[in-house]
Amino acid sequence: MSILVVGSVFMDSLETPFGSVERTVGGSATYFSIAASFFSPVQMVAAVGDDFPEEEREFLRRRGIDLRGLETRPGKTGFWRGRYHEDMNKRDTLELQLNVFGDFRPQLPDSYRDARYVFLANIDPELQGEVLDQLTAPGLVGCDTMNHWIANARPALERLLSRVDLLIINDEEARQLSGENNVVKAARRLLQMGPERVLIKRGEYGVIQFSPDSVFAVPAFPLEEVFDPTGAGDTFAGAFMGALARSRDRSERALREAIVYGSVVASFVVEDFGLARLKTLTWEQIERRYRQFVSLTDIDGA
Ligand code: AMP
Repeated sequence: MSILVVGSVFMDSLETPFGSVERTVGGSATYFSIAASFFSPVQMVAAVGDDFPEEEREFLRRRGIDLRGLETRPGKTGFWRGRYHEDMNKRDTLELQLNVFGDFRPQLPDSYRDARYVFLANIDPELQGEVLDQLTAPGLVGCDTMNHWIANARPALERLLSRVDLLIINDEEARQLSGENNVVKAARRLLQMGPERVLIKRGEYGVIQFSPDSVFAVPAFPLEEVFDPTGAGDTFAGAFMGALARSRDRSERALREAIVYGSVVASFVVEDFGLARLKTLTWEQIERRYRQFVSLTDIDGA
């Protein structure tokens, strides 16, 4: 079952305590799509400029990502420059040039309109809503957001939350959106805003899923070296939604398994800069780390 994702495709310049990289392909839709493509076909909706490298487009195609919804517009691809602190859960945006992404209005190709699995990555909540309006029968809808929209577009975001099944955000955003400092109280409040489940990403501390009657928590896979956390959240969401679409199951069991796959694939992306590690990742490596992940908390697994 394929997954539709709308989000950003940007060029990134990244600086971490371990080094830096200039103008490498990034963006929420890119990380999401590559991660999801290990599990399911993906339909991407985004906009890039006419400077977007052809070999990168070709790489996405080879991964089974449908690019009919990737609009190429005259002008430059969006650009983001980020710098991570010594504590890599913290980062600063040094530069953001939206370029052709600035007046992007997602227009779905007809072949996308019957998508059942949908992920609305972090863009203006009005536009996330417009994507939903163009779908004939969305089955499972996940969404992300960021502090900018929580502060500046709250009414649109609240309208959107009443239309989504899964809200996947980080702990800081959960606090800001709910007005609650405690993450459990924050999740309870967010569940009242509409989604069936809330998944809170806590960087190196892992992920917690809340539904009205269950809580499920996983750690992040313990790594000796984290080079670049960029895209970890979108990679988690991509592998999570991909695993769900592959299983065609939305039982508690299937969601928990998908959360572990999300955590596993996200643990790879941070091992190198940008998309580099995702580009060499194999299915065997995912499966091996999945087994290691499960044995992390298995008291009989020594
Ligand atoms: P994450 O680390 O999961 O928050 O995702 C980082 C990605 O988001 C980077 O590859 C950036 O290109 C992209 N990004 C940064 N700022 C924005 C923005 N304002 N709108 C859309 N995408 C952005």
